[in-house]
Amino acid sequence: MALNLAVELTAPNGVKYSQPTGLFINNQWVASSNGEKLTTLNPANDQQITSVSAATEQDVDTAVKSARKALQDSSWCDLCVSERGKLINRLADLIEEHRETIAAIETWDNGKPYTAALNEDVAEVVQTLRYYGGFSDKIFGQVIETTPGKLAYTIRDPVGVCGQIIPWNYPLAMAAWKLGPALACGNTVVLKPAEQTPLSILYLANLIPQAGFPPGVINVLNGLGRVAGAALAAHEDVDKIAFTGSTATGKVIMKLASSNLKSITLETGGKSPLIVFDDADLDLASYWAHAGIMSNQGQICTATSRILVQDGIYDQFLAKFLDQVRAISKVGDPFDESTYQGPQITKAQQERIVEYVKIGQDEGARLELGGQTLPNLGNGYFVQPTVFTAVTESMRVFQEEVFGPFVVITRFSTENEAVQLANGTIYGLGSAIFTSNLARAHRTARKIEAGMVWINSSQDSDWRIPFGGVKQSGIGRELGEAGLAAYSNIKAVHVNLNS
Ligand code: NAD
Repeated sequence: MALNLAVELTAPNGVKYSQPTGLFINNQWVASSNGEKLTTLNPANDQQITSVSAATEQDVDTAVKSARKALQDSSWCDLCVSERGKLINRLADLIEEHRETIAAIETWDNGKPYTAALNEDVAEVVQTLRYYGGFSDKIFGQVIETTPGKLAYTIRDPVGVCGQIIPWNYPLAMAAWKLGPALACGNTVVLKPAEQTPLSILYLANLIPQAGFPPGVINVLNGLGRVAGAALAAHEDVDKIAFTGSTATGKVIMKLASSNLKSITLETGGKSPLIVFDDADLDLASYWAHAGIMSNQGQICTATSRILVQDGIYDQFLAKFLDQVRAISKVGDPFDESTYQGPQITKAQQERIVEYVKIGQDEGARLELGGQTLPNLGNGYFVQPTVFTAVTESMRVFQEEVFGPFVVITRFSTENEAVQLANGTIYGLGSAIFTSNLARAHRTARKIEAGMVWINSSQDSDWRIPFGGVKQSGIGRELGEAGLAAYSNIKAVHVNLNS
């Protein structure tokens, strides 16, 4: 690595390491073609951590060319599928070996509690890669019977060069969700992390050649969404775009990707409901209602950010829920083990949450808890856990994704009304139902318009289970066997046995 494309850093918890800062193209570190850089800030104190190269349109083109060449290079396309799986597993092993450094970088750059970064995010990255590494030699076509004179079979070809654009809320996990299935199916990748959180993925990129991947199979470019992301989405020689981010950006990506009819998968926004029926276990419901919106600083696309509560237990549930929020949501230094909630990712996100507090109040909702920033914690982008009640369906705070520790509570009387409220937004990502009535649980699960339903729980996510949304929450599925579907093309071969 060229000296000026890495800096020696010490994370706030004392971890010393070498931070790559360049663009990772063809297994080499290079600077951006015009010398542009992005500054990355520590959200816990608003101080600069370092700066990294920002890719230009020309750099995107160079990376795409390198991915195209790798796709056709025998070291990758003719690699035995089991060997391909070994490379993915070796990358997982290396990430596990470096897990404490990677978790420290993730916490420093993103603000999420270190214990979550280490035990949840990095652990999930390793598990996801191992899961898809195991799939590499289990991806095959079918022989399909037709007539005696014919043989017909299918082959699962890689889609080709895959552009992958990811957000800042789970930088590493989102990278693993996309890299795992793409590599298992034999594709090559140009990955663009979010400009707010470039560091952990650059560290991971350094492990790619060590794992044994041939040059060009995985390229990592930091850069601005409207520059590098847009160039990748529009590039004529990219075959597929996988995107996770906001619904608004998803719509832009769809338009850009239409330039050459790229295959697309989108994981976008949400305003997921959590329904508490009269017959629910209220301790369980309040525990999960809290975790469902307050974990990861509320920056979860599936966050159960609307709580719908049946009349009969409304007061009891509200009292328990508010107690839970007061007791558990300790806000502060993400490296402190007792911290539940770190800072929001950026000042803009902090301001957005405060703006939604004002919107809720102006709309006539009741602010039960929180709503303020926390200047006593310094210059970090901290926000109090915020709870609104008396929220009705037409309010913006009921309809719009806030993406913070911000939850709205609405009452309902009947099961039908609960379903209608749950389905009453443009989104359809997650949903949770709390009831002790089995029939009601399954009946409601069917009626809810969402990609995922949790019964008596919230936010369960597992690399073996498909993840994705309906309506304006996305197109396609990631994770599980379903996550492979987007990364191969089925080719039909017809053989004339009478020739
Ligand atoms: P964002 O859409 O602004 O950015 C996401 C990514 O897209 C970043 O890498 C960004 O650089 C890139 N990008 C931005 N503009 C672009 C453009 N014009 N062309 C190409 N790329 C562009 O979203 P965000 O603010 O980073 O993330 C928060 C949002 O992401 C929330 O709305 C959240 O719900 C959503 N999200 C969804 C999921 C999911 O799985 N459904 C997961 C995480 C986050």
